[in-house]
Amino acid sequence: MKRLSILGSTGSIGRNTLEVISRHRDRFSVKALAVRNNVQMLEEQIREFNPEVVAVYDASAAESLKKMNPPVEILEGEQGLIDAATLDGTDMVVSAIVGSPGLVPTYEAIKSGKDIALATKEALVMAGHLVMPEASRRGVRILPVDSEHSAVFQCLDGRDMEEVEKIVLTASGGPFRTKSVQALRKVTPAEALNHPNWDMGRKITIDSATLMNKGLEVIEAYWLFNVPVEKIGVILHPQSIIHSMVRFIDGSVISQMSVPDMKGPISYALSYPERFRNVLPSLDLASIRELTFEEPDPERYPSLALTYKALRSGGTMPCVLNAANEVAVEAFLNEEIVFTEIFRVVSDTMAEHGVLRGETIQEVIRASDWAKKRAAEFVMDRNGK
Ligand code: MG
Repeated sequence: MKRLSILGSTGSIGRNTLEVISRHRDRFSVKALAVRNNVQMLEEQIREFNPEVVAVYDASAAESLKKMNPPVEILEGEQGLIDAATLDGTDMVVSAIVGSPGLVPTYEAIKSGKDIALATKEALVMAGHLVMPEASRRGVRILPVDSEHSAVFQCLDGRDMEEVEKIVLTASGGPFRTKSVQALRKVTPAEALNHPNWDMGRKITIDSATLMNKGLEVIEAYWLFNVPVEKIGVILHPQSIIHSMVRFIDGSVISQMSVPDMKGPISYALSYPERFRNVLPSLDLASIRELTFEEPDPERYPSLALTYKALRSGGTMPCVLNAANEVAVEAFLNEEIVFTEIFRVVSDTMAEHGVLRGETIQEVIRASDWAKKRAAEFVMDRNGK
């Protein structure tokens, strides 16, 4: 029986994780659930999965949950998330809190020796240089939940990285792949949230439309697979059937395919090294008929190059990119800036950042806080125009 703590249990990844668990009750038990503020859904999850502990980040939401009087210990605030992540007797932590609030609980879980099923890419984007060495010191296994990294992990299958010529991450290109670049200024949040293939949370769906998500995944792959940045590429693949591929030194390419459903990578991270039966519907290639590929257009997706730039600058720059992007995406969703200004806000914030080495998590978080504040000022400036 594998005992799990799920950070971010009411989000898209969290709900899919619980669905996988509910089909394999004999294999998994739920020790802890942690959420930001959705206590209505959490209360239902408590009744269904019977965790020992729950943590609610938002204090007033924690109060509302207490009034519902569920039969469980209720923790709150950042410390509550950390306690849920480091609970004695937990074998694996599913890290699925959206954005930078996921970093510290994930890092603390690693320090306490828990294996991680990692969906919160920010943990590696912000602090891969601290997280990965800590994981290897503690003998902690980090299993990717992100579909692309799960695909790469499956294609590599333990092979020596010396044999790898290139990791190629696939991207759908989002809803604006064929729109004119000029028209991008006018797109609405509702249009941007309408992803062609994947059903995901709001932040990541906007990041898919800008391709920032793929850029963050390049950074994630860099840390997860310990490859030089030149060996990571991105290709557009609008059908989202090939979830990523690896080109080896002999010219062979191995790819991983499935219907696009996060239960695939989640199951694999939970069951590894085994595979569960009947996780996804079988892939009917004859009815899909064609798998196509394109180079990403740098004019349409300027954020992608920005992420390579951040990775090459190193230190706190990827963290600043991520923080500025969080603010810019939120501002776009609130209709404070237009779609194409997401890139501008991130790029302007990065241009002002004096890179630090980011030697501690605190230093990384200070850089992140600085970037959020600066990006918010850029949003105000643009909004005032
Ligand atoms: Mg992904």
